[in-house]
Amino acid sequence: MANYAHPIAIVGGGITGLVAAHRLSRLGFQVELFESSDRLGGCIRSEREGDWLVEAGPNSIQDNCPEFTRLLDELKLGTRLHEAGPDARNRYLVRDGRPLAAPASPPALLTTPLLGLGAKLRLLGDLFVRPRKYDRDVSVGAFFRRHFGREVVDRAVAAMVSGIYAGNVEKLSARHAFPSLWKMEGEHGSLLRALKAAAKTRRAAGGRKGPPRIVTFDDGLGVLPAALAAALPADAVHLGARVTAVTPGTPCTLHWEHQGTHRTGTYAAVILALPAKALAALAIGGPAEHPLAGLKDIDYPAVTSVFLGYRREQVRHPLDGFGLLAPPVERRAVMGVLFSSTLFPRRAPEGHVGLTVMVGGALRPDLGLADDERVMSVIKAELADLLGVEGEPVFVRTNRWPAAIPQYNLGHERHLQAMEDCERHHANVHIGGNVRDGIALTSCIAAGERLAAQVAAG
Ligand SMILES: Cc1cc2nc3c(=O)[nH]c(=O)nc-3n(C[C@H](O)[C@H](O)[C@H](O)COP(=O)(O)OP(=O)(O)OC[C@H]3O[C@@H](n4cnc5c(N)ncnc54)[C@H](O)[C@@H]3O)c2cc1C
Repeated sequence: MANYAHPIAIVGGGITGLVAAHRLSRLGFQVELFESSDRLGGCIRSEREGDWLVEAGPNSIQDNCPEFTRLLDELKLGTRLHEAGPDARNRYLVRDGRPLAAPASPPALLTTPLLGLGAKLRLLGDLFVRPRKYDRDVSVGAFFRRHFGREVVDRAVAAMVSGIYAGNVEKLSARHAFPSLWKMEGEHGSLLRALKAAAKTRRAAGGRKGPPRIVTFDDGLGVLPAALAAALPADAVHLGARVTAVTPGTPCTLHWEHQGTHRTGTYAAVILALPAKALAALAIGGPAEHPLAGLKDIDYPAVTSVFLGYRREQVRHPLDGFGLLAPPVERRAVMGVLFSSTLFPRRAPEGHVGLTVMVGGALRPDLGLADDERVMSVIKAELADLLGVEGEPVFVRTNRWPAAIPQYNLGHERHLQAMEDCERHHANVHIGGNVRDGIALTSCIAAGERLAAQVAAG
């Protein structure tokens, strides 16, 4: 049972830690949030410069989680929410060097030029796939090939996986990277039938028809961490505080470095909402005990996100979509391009457009780490070729993520097990965030709520 004579320590000021701190504070707990950098928000960073709005990291939230809706109400952010425009329903996939509209409905699947006739027939073969219980984990590539065949994986799934994980379909674990599809397969066999059944259940429960809304805020995603931080008591946040060790117990002792000095404090419980490498480095138990050391093996590929502004007439493509993804078989330098100013309003000045280009990821580590000159030269060539972009951008901002997104690769269960064991062995230590609970922002929000509920339950 936690000792609530002391505050709760939340370590990591990304969205997971902020949500956990917010919830506990609203429940009446005294909280202290420790963040090693000089700002809150973690991967979320929105920067407005004049009429340009640049998202350094994530660009949008899929509004499919009740925990997010609840936060919007509590923080009174409903009026600041922006829904993606109707054009954002169109997605482009590159085939033979050309962006082609991805099929938006099952009938469109049959006519799309993105797939050959053999691939379309093979896709329908999914309807006859029987439920299967695997005795071991399989890669995302193998999992989807079983259902849809090789061409669909090469042409569509691999591109989608680049867009979500910046990952490699042959390395990612199907079970951990796509847990709901993994479960559906176990129950239904066919994914097409399972998805149809899920949509029917959602509609019967009064849920919305079609895919979830894609949203952001008037000043970008950074509005959310800023509102969460503003709702915390003024003295609850320690910036520039790098936590180095936890001595668990009732209460726990936390050790951190702040401006070159070592500090300690006593807390009823500790929530760790940190990236894998930070968890691996933490001494938990004694000064030489690092029970999460193995997490250092979790791969975090480097990604560079470049926002480019152009005058509208410099871009031949109508930009009538969410963006484009290039599957690895196309051997392009870019993973994907978001049509940022189509996706959401107030991203670019009148008469201009904004594009966000992602390079690097698990399949092109060289480009994730390349210098600005090389990155700009490959991006300019790709944009000219794929979207008919001419001339120099009028605005450029480059954001680098040397360790972008944790890869739930084959064997990921050993890392999940290490976190579970650590919690079991050490009373009042709770672990969560994108390394454990899913990489989407909504998964991290749900993780923050789960961690807070765990602590509140004592
Ligand atoms: C380029 C990019 C694009 C993305 N796009 C999307 C998208 O469009 N939609 C979407 O849903 N998701 C997207 N994601 C994923 C999503 O942004 C992340 O999964 C999520 O923000 C992670 O939140 P977190 O709180 O778990 O971790 P983080 O945001 O990583 O926060 C962890 C915090 O811990 C701090 N920290 C580290 N070590 C210590 C220490 N020792 N002591 C104290 N503090 C420490 C860090 O400084 C950091 O602030 C994207 C991610 C990236 C990188």
